[in-house]
Amino acid sequence: MKTSMKKAFTLIELLVVIAIISLLVSILLPSLTMAKELTKSGACMSNLRNLAVAFHMYAEEHDSYLPNLNPYHNPVPGNGMWYTNLLEPYTNTIDWTAEGWPWGMNPNGEWMHLDQGMWTCPAVTPEDVLRCTGYGVNEYHLIFYGRDPSGNLRGSLKLEDIYRSSEIFLIGDTRIYADWLGGWKTFKVLDCPVCTAWGEISGMGWAGPKCAAPRHPGGAEGRANAAFVDGHVESCDYRDMIDNRNDMFAHDGL
Ligand SMILES: [Zn+2]
Ligand SMILES: [Zn+2]
Repeated sequence: MKTSMKKAFTLIELLVVIAIISLLVSILLPSLTMAKELTKSGACMSNLRNLAVAFHMYAEEHDSYLPNLNPYHNPVPGNGMWYTNLLEPYTNTIDWTAEGWPWGMNPNGEWMHLDQGMWTCPAVTPEDVLRCTGYGVNEYHLIFYGRDPSGNLRGSLKLEDIYRSSEIFLIGDTRIYADWLGGWKTFKVLDCPVCTAWGEISGMGWAGPKCAAPRHPGGAEGRANAAFVDGHVESCDYRDMIDNRNDMFAHDGL
């Protein structure tokens, strides 16, 4: 009798211990996950800081001009040097591809993997990768093709002509809604949210909006990291970005 009482008591004790442990786990796990996400966001911001420095170094050696998106509007393999390629000497990483395609396929014809140094946002997963590994530039109002679709010379802006340099988005967490590929994917350029509507818009193919990627935690809709033209980096609320806070995409001017 005494033995069975002792057994029952041990069982209750065990259940209590299990309950306490599961309570502790439920309390600690989210905060551990959050800590991990914040570490990723910090590493992402450090990447963007390095990329901003690379843009500045390029401009210093090119009469203050930012790198072109690509010299041509419709590059063919062999003559396309994307901005990612142009920045290679300053990013100390990545021979993206022999033909100047910085995104999609690597020189071996494989989908680009995640190990792209400072070009890779740590919160991006292999399934996310489409073009580039996390970051896109302000293609609407700063970084242009060398020629427009009619073949006229155009080219990117000069750094020294950008007066609101601490307010204007240069490069940051970016994505495209690729419904034909199953949802959001990484992309290498970011559209101005005033010029194009951002969001999950189906059936547009490659013409779909290229939006900021709020892949870091915080706020109601998440946060995206961004490097500004002056080189400083911020974690931005996604809603502020959609609303073009402080005209951060230079829609109304520099
Ligand atoms: Zn990021
Ligand atoms: Zn615009």
